[in-house]
Amino acid sequence: FPILLHFILHGGNPSFTNLPSVLLLGPSGSGKTAILTLFERGAQPSSEKNSTSPAPTHTSQAPGTVELAVSEDGSSSFRDDLDAAGATAKKFLLVDTPGHAKLRRHALSLLAPTASSESAQSKLRSVVFVVDAAALADGDALPTTAGYLYDALLSLQKRMGSGRGSKAPASIPVLIAANKLDLFTALPAALVKSNLEAELGRIRKTRSKGLLDSGVGTDDIAAEENDDWLGEYGSEKFTFKQLLEFDIEVDVIGGNTQGDGPGADKWWKWIAERI
Ligand code: GDP
Repeated sequence: FPILLHFILHGGNPSFTNLPSVLLLGPSGSGKTAILTLFERGAQPSSEKNSTSPAPTHTSQAPGTVELAVSEDGSSSFRDDLDAAGATAKKFLLVDTPGHAKLRRHALSLLAPTASSESAQSKLRSVVFVVDAAALADGDALPTTAGYLYDALLSLQKRMGSGRGSKAPASIPVLIAANKLDLFTALPAALVKSNLEAELGRIRKTRSKGLLDSGVGTDDIAAEENDDWLGEYGSEKFTFKQLLEFDIEVDVIGGNTQGDGPGADKWWKWIAERI
């Protein structure tokens, strides 16, 4: 799998070496595959739209990766058939990653500074971190979801910090897609946001506790451990806004891929505007 992803993002195939990419992250079961499938099917030619057969292979570059397109001005829907319209479209890759804890390392390595500077072809435009807003309602999923999110955001923060003295790497905005809002048990996006912020703050405290307890002076901690502290150093509460200091924009938007609810249009718009 890592080899495959490397192949995809670093241009093993000349046909998509220069395409910008969007990375789907998030725990297993949050709905990453459902989102990818919805966007892929929506982009099918209209004659195939109502077919129940699997999405045509011509849009699939590799398992878990689909090639999608938005109009030049970023305003087209994922339902628009850009081929039929003869529009000049901007193509991009949507790349799914395994959410299983043991396999996350590889997904996270794609956010490392080397992942982009090593290869001019890899143009990671944004990260979509998918969470199950219904699972977050009962508490158990919150620590594990936030743990993965912490690692992802910290990777991006380190990535931005690594540019000192040379050219700063392009900033990579993060969309937290609060999925499954069709379920009445699901938390609204605003609560998903505040619960995640509170949990990320808790994780930050726990991870720095060893050092604080060891009696090392604050200055030493600042020098040595600053690296693993997410957001504003030493702040009591964590907020996503603190990441703006590292040029990382984080938005939380609710939606769903099935049932009744806000749907996936706002996610698509967010992605499209950043291609
Ligand atoms: P992944 O592991 O992140 O790729 O998650 P999947 O896309 O496989 O989805 C996990 C489960 O959640 C599947 O049973 C999906 O049908 C279901 N699911 C995905 N999106 C939604 C949604 O918007 N609403 C509801 N109710 N279920 C969803």
